[in-house]
Amino acid sequence: MCRAVRFDFQLYNVLWYEKGDKGRGRRFTARPVKKGACLMKHIAIWLTALVMACSLCACTSSAKFASSNSAVSSPDLVTPSVPAQAEPESSETESSEEQVSSAGSLPAQQEPPLPPETAGPAPTEELPVFSASSLRVKAGDNLFLFVKNVPESVSVTGESSLGTIPVFYPYEDMQMAIFPVRYSAEPGDYSITVACDGASETFALTVLDGGFEVEEFQVDQSVADSTVNSAKANEEYAAATQPLKESGDAAQYWSGAFSLPIHQETFRVSSSFGYTRIINGVASIHGGVDFPAPQGTPVTAPNRGRVLYAGFLQLTGNTVVIEHGFGLKSWYYHMDELCCSEGDMLGTGDLIGRVGTTGYSTGNHLHFGMSVGGVYINPWQYLDGDYFGQAVA
Ligand SMILES: [Zn+2]
Repeated sequence: MCRAVRFDFQLYNVLWYEKGDKGRGRRFTARPVKKGACLMKHIAIWLTALVMACSLCACTSSAKFASSNSAVSSPDLVTPSVPAQAEPESSETESSEEQVSSAGSLPAQQEPPLPPETAGPAPTEELPVFSASSLRVKAGDNLFLFVKNVPESVSVTGESSLGTIPVFYPYEDMQMAIFPVRYSAEPGDYSITVACDGASETFALTVLDGGFEVEEFQVDQSVADSTVNSAKANEEYAAATQPLKESGDAAQYWSGAFSLPIHQETFRVSSSFGYTRIINGVASIHGGVDFPAPQGTPVTAPNRGRVLYAGFLQLTGNTVVIEHGFGLKSWYYHMDELCCSEGDMLGTGDLIGRVGTTGYSTGNHLHFGMSVGGVYINPWQYLDGDYFGQAVA
């Protein structure tokens, strides 16, 4: 038995029909229904119908939505999650989420433009940065030039109104050069220009008076005639030492301060660096420090270095040249005996030779000099303390 409901909107009555045995509906007498109650019933019925209709609609639409969603997301969710099994559990989840978010939204797909933004600061960091340890230097002293952020396979070049060309070597995470100021440089204003990778910087350098004094003395003419006045002796010296002056090892062998190369309880300087010496009327500037000492006094390496030259030259007698790195060299003349050979790596305090008076010399003493790039510099910069370390700090 089933019932059908028909609405009579004109009478606001509800008529109930019941299928009879003969297949036709039997009309029940219409029950008088109050209009208010009738309205309430209508509303209730309509609401019920609406709810059912909405639920049906919602089911249909949600089913459609779900099916459409699954059609899009399932390949993205499933496919990446399978290989992600190898990842740790926590990262697997993150990985899946990333895959979904990046694959599921177009804006995420357009993230590649971000790299230029992240790559933005890199060129700034790679710009060369130039610096100098000091821009007020006495004649005969040296300064240090540094360049940071030098790209690989890019060289650093430099020039100066002093006529000296700085040579740069790798040092830690930068390039550095020891820049010597000739002892003969006139006090005044000069410039150093350093260039790297399309960038450059010019430093204004002030050279101060070195305070050098003038000495004048005589040497036995027979000695002078046989040595200093000998063109052959000078040519020999130049041929042996000039190639050494321009060389440099791309490694810092030395560290800290240089020790005195001569071992005495008290030492004396007979002729200091930079003095103008007028010998037998001929002026020359002394490129080193002379330490008078008894014959045979040990001469030792003031710092670590590689022996570039160990031999006899008519002008300077038994001579040793040591490369300490970056073109910084030390020179030893007039020794009575040589105790090292070319190629030896010496540590601080290792025996080089013994004091003598060989070559163009007026008595037993050690001539000790230091140079950079063929320019003799004041050894006391390095003997007095950690000159380089102070410059770097
Ligand atoms: Zn000397």
